[in-house]
Amino acid sequence: MMIRVEGLTKTFTAHNEIVTAVDGIDFEVGPGEVVTLLGPSGCGKTTTLRCVAGLERAQGGRITIGDRTVVDVEAGTFVPPHRRNLGMVFQSYAIWPHMTVIENVAYALEGQRMNKAERKRLAMEALETVQLAHLAERPAPRLSGGQQQRVAIARAMVGRPQVLLFDEPLSNLDARLRVEMRSELRRIQRQIGLSSIYVTHDQAEALAMSDWIVVMKDGRIVERGRPLDIYRYPRHVFTAQFLGTTNLIAGTVADVDAASGRLGVTTPLGRIVGIDPSRTLAAGAKVRVSIRPEDLSTQPPLDTGAAPVNAFDGTLTFAIFAGVAVEAELRCGEIKLQCLLNREADLTPGRAITVHAKPDACLVLPEE
Ligand code: ATP
Repeated sequence: MMIRVEGLTKTFTAHNEIVTAVDGIDFEVGPGEVVTLLGPSGCGKTTTLRCVAGLERAQGGRITIGDRTVVDVEAGTFVPPHRRNLGMVFQSYAIWPHMTVIENVAYALEGQRMNKAERKRLAMEALETVQLAHLAERPAPRLSGGQQQRVAIARAMVGRPQVLLFDEPLSNLDARLRVEMRSELRRIQRQIGLSSIYVTHDQAEALAMSDWIVVMKDGRIVERGRPLDIYRYPRHVFTAQFLGTTNLIAGTVADVDAASGRLGVTTPLGRIVGIDPSRTLAAGAKVRVSIRPEDLSTQPPLDTGAAPVNAFDGTLTFAIFAGVAVEAELRCGEIKLQCLLNREADLTPGRAITVHAKPDACLVLPEE
């Protein structure tokens, strides 16, 4: 089921002040896709989701679910939440403590025309999907946090909604369980194949869960992309910083090679050769070069015959063994570079080393 949000605007009035929570945003969710709204606290993610759910009334824009318009501010259309055919999963599970697991799920079907046996059958089916069928008769409070979240998911899907909405569903779980539930949620979502909107401020969760990520800031969309693309080739400094860790080096574009798409940038680290994901930059532009810690290496790239580029000399200020790699900091004059290095190198602090970055890993982004 396709979801389409167009020109959505929502303001709140609080203490005689007007707060623009969502400022004219557009996005789409394709059939069966998970689209994640990602951004810092207050950027308007939850408000957007609540407008789709019908829990908030927008001041502008349209929302369509399938071929049904559920919101059209200009035309005065507003379909109430219970008629939008959505399932919702929130941060708090809102489990009924006096009921068993299966009763909790079946309760979501109250008011639908079907007998008790039918309700129970559907509830059991939903519990099977979230792999809780074996606990169906257990009192709901006697479940772990992760199991309670599964009950909440079963309850959201039991009424056969067309769309699922998730608002930070994993944030009440401890770190380990959160990681486990990520892949579990993804599995469930794939199995039931419902178009979903997922709200989180956790970038790792967004990368793991989504078909598309929509990055938001101050009520607007900064950019959108597939998880790997938006992580590797962000077009904005904001995205590069928000999604993962990165080094940002200020500089000025010196030259652009149209044929290869590579740019030379003058920076305090010397000349950096990189790429411009937005393909909009020209010589003289003020930029930041973004280089992720894992893209810096003590190994020079294999000899390609071309003159070597992007070699940065510095002094190791610290190196911490972190399992798969060594987290290190290199001081190069005024600039500090965070690096994730191979543990085979000699990384004694105080040592002078050189790190290398491939041009494709040096993203030249417009100054914001
Ligand atoms: P968080 O992750 O903290 O929930 P968010 O990105 O989901 O953040 P929203 O909750 O959508 O952000 O809030 C966007 C803006 O709208 C914020 O500035 C917030 O203070 C404001 N806001 C949200 N709800 C209301 C309300 N009911 N009354 C007044 N202002 C509100």
